[in-house]
Amino acid sequence: MKTIQMVDLRGQYEKIKVEINSAIQEVIDSSAFIKGGKVVDFQQNLETYLNVKHVIPVGNGTDALQIALMALGLKPGDEVITPTFTFIATAEVVALLGLTPVVVDVDIDTFNIDIESIKRAITPRTKAIVPVHLFGQNAEMEQILELARQHNLYVIEDACQSIGSTYTFANGKSFQSGTMGDVGCTSFFPSKNLGCFGDGGAIFTNNDELALRIRSIANHGMIERYHHDIVGVNSRLDSIQAAVLNVKLKYLDSYNNSRQEVATFYDNAFANDERLIVPKRSVNSSHVFHQYTLKLNGIDRSALKDYLAKLGIPSMIYYPVPLHLQKAYKNDRYKLGDFPNAEKLCECVLSLPMHTELDTDQLEYITRSVLEFIEKHSE
Ligand SMILES: *Cc1c(COP(=O)(O)O)cnc(C)c1O
Repeated sequence: MKTIQMVDLRGQYEKIKVEINSAIQEVIDSSAFIKGGKVVDFQQNLETYLNVKHVIPVGNGTDALQIALMALGLKPGDEVITPTFTFIATAEVVALLGLTPVVVDVDIDTFNIDIESIKRAITPRTKAIVPVHLFGQNAEMEQILELARQHNLYVIEDACQSIGSTYTFANGKSFQSGTMGDVGCTSFFPSKNLGCFGDGGAIFTNNDELALRIRSIANHGMIERYHHDIVGVNSRLDSIQAAVLNVKLKYLDSYNNSRQEVATFYDNAFANDERLIVPKRSVNSSHVFHQYTLKLNGIDRSALKDYLAKLGIPSMIYYPVPLHLQKAYKNDRYKLGDFPNAEKLCECVLSLPMHTELDTDQLEYITRSVLEFIEKHSE
């Protein structure tokens, strides 16, 4: 059996090696390393894939979030609502810009931002909501967009983990993750569902004016060369990364299918055991399984993790500490107990290996090992 990894980038690369290598070689031969044709091609291909008017490639997913917030013209003290159970980047950029991150609880079953908690957190200073489509499944966008409309708020989707998943509204219309709010952001970090060979990210919007502003901010606040109308940053996707992404975008749907097959295998193996709660599928969203995350019910998580590690099976805790209990973000506003769902999840979640190259032997070995541990440690 092949060594089991959380993510197998090497195995995925081997299958498209010739295509990838020649795409990279083209960039090297052209010397168009920055803002080359490959970047424009990728931008257009991604616009078509997502069915969105504008894709603005940037340096990484964190930059994407920061630039999106800058483009909306928010002011210090403005409040931005985001979930407390997520990766730090979302709240980090809010804080860096002098805005006030207001964190809220998540749904215990889908791990996504909880609508009632958003309602309770809205104040006259609230200017935006940043839902994170966690682990590959869209948050309840219909309700979020309705709340935003009622309260005149911007919606910035963090689609760093959900590219390729779709959300269906009550009227039957479906949209790609990241294309429903005012702005969507994604990351092409190597282990993401669409990953490059370094850092990369992109911003999506259907708003022409906003797209222009975002482009300008990502490029030193300039539209006409060496004329700087607003304070910007320097954040670009380089041509080599774009070349890799152009190849991999063609396979994104099949990669996401492979992930879904892995998830179904895990689901079936664990279906009859109430000590292992498999991730809930939300009704309105497809799931592209950036992570496959179990909730453990009455099982010693660290003992299970160690047991698996000894058998050569990696597992990860995404995420061990909610944002409101992180040292850098602690303040008088929050204390332990404020967001019970997020706090409970941090104690009971365990993510299993999830990638495009897992085979049946590996999956059988992983699931058998998890179930063996549970048998040994019950009663
Ligand atoms: C990966 C990730 C980011 C940040 O992306 P980088 O490209 O690493 O900057 C932001 N938000 C979420 C939810 C992520 O998973």
